[in-house]
Amino acid sequence: MVKRKLCEPLENRKGNLYFDGFSVVELAQKYDTPLYVLSEKRVRENYNRLYDAIVDKYKDVRIYYACKANTNLTLLKLLQSEGAYLDAVSPGEVFMGLSSGFTPDRILFTGISVRPDELKFLADLGVTINIDCQSELEHLLKIVVPSTISVRVNPEVGDGHHDHCITAGPNVKFGICDEEDILKVYADAKKARVEHFGIHMHIGSGISKIDSYVQAVKRFLDIAKRVHDELDITFDFIDLGGGFGVSYRPDDEPFDLSEFVSKVVSLFKSKVKAYKLGKPFLCVEPGRYLVCDAGILLTTVNMVKVTSHRKFVGVDSGFNTLIRPAMYGSYHHILVANKLNLKDSGIFDVVGPLCESGDVLAKDRELPPVVEGDVLAVLNAGAYGFSMSSQYNSRPRAAEVMMRQGKPVLIREREQFQDLLTSQRVALQGE
Ligand SMILES: *Cc1c(COP(=O)(O)O)cnc(C)c1O
Repeated sequence: MVKRKLCEPLENRKGNLYFDGFSVVELAQKYDTPLYVLSEKRVRENYNRLYDAIVDKYKDVRIYYACKANTNLTLLKLLQSEGAYLDAVSPGEVFMGLSSGFTPDRILFTGISVRPDELKFLADLGVTINIDCQSELEHLLKIVVPSTISVRVNPEVGDGHHDHCITAGPNVKFGICDEEDILKVYADAKKARVEHFGIHMHIGSGISKIDSYVQAVKRFLDIAKRVHDELDITFDFIDLGGGFGVSYRPDDEPFDLSEFVSKVVSLFKSKVKAYKLGKPFLCVEPGRYLVCDAGILLTTVNMVKVTSHRKFVGVDSGFNTLIRPAMYGSYHHILVANKLNLKDSGIFDVVGPLCESGDVLAKDRELPPVVEGDVLAVLNAGAYGFSMSSQYNSRPRAAEVMMRQGKPVLIREREQFQDLLTSQRVALQGE
């Protein structure tokens, strides 16, 4: 198997895994498992690396953190303090953003199949709404004429790590793809005296091929030009969405930021100039890129079961805690935290405690000799980890810790059995 070279915030100290300078085994002892651990330092670095790379080429940049990746309040606060904006896909995410200090003018709402009362909630707050279809605009205009609207364009080119995560293309539910329909939404908004405009695309999550992204941006900017030329609309912002890939496998190529800048940002800059689109903000909406490699999941080995067919390592996190492997067949690299220098001893399936055979975190994985009580670190768990977790099998959700200046700080308490009762009402009292 390809060995993974550990890079920040991971470190091998005499065979033991350290995260932001702290022993992972000690973290597991102190806070118990399953435990999500986030690195404040890595999140800040990810944000600034991206911002600095883009701003170097194009001055007016906004980074919207797509918070469905991870809505921990401390994490949101931290990104807000870096100057991030927020991409929210539900009223609940807007609420989380406001609760962590984002002001409404820094939040963009990109929904689909939005209820009228949700539009009212957003309009009352003054959050900018990214329109997904004609009827959404009509519902919104009945409530209020907002000062700004944006339209989600489907440029009919998509990409992503899994079918579920490709969010543009002819058979996808998101955005508006026919140019005449796009023009009509803008024309209607203008007629209703909306004054400020944005335009948006987001083609998928876990984009691997920069070329499909470039194709999508080309088509998208051509559409922006038509809107500008035919309706005399100037864009305050042009949003290219998120989806920047992360290397999950040891042999995955990392997302090439300099290629992104040289191919996409350059193209943006030259087209905006050639098409005379003014001076719009260039917006991007990364979720995964900012937080994925800044988080790990720690889980303890409960059993090692060897049959004549297979070897299973049973841990205390299942797809209730991390659903990506079960849902998308995703690969997450796994390290035995106290055995980094030991040779692999066999091929194991790492399985969770849920009563489903699909509850597998890793299949056919080479691991060193694992025993009960060992702590495993599941890498790249900062995005779509906790936020997709559940109480399935009535298992309380995990705790979260953030490493700050070399010290762990608890940022979410482990749920208790009592939390399983929250909001239930027993209807059969007295019977
Ligand atoms: C999910 C989402 C993103 C972010 O996707 P990542 O792959 O995490 O970068 C950005 N924009 C919208 C509208 C999304 O729904």
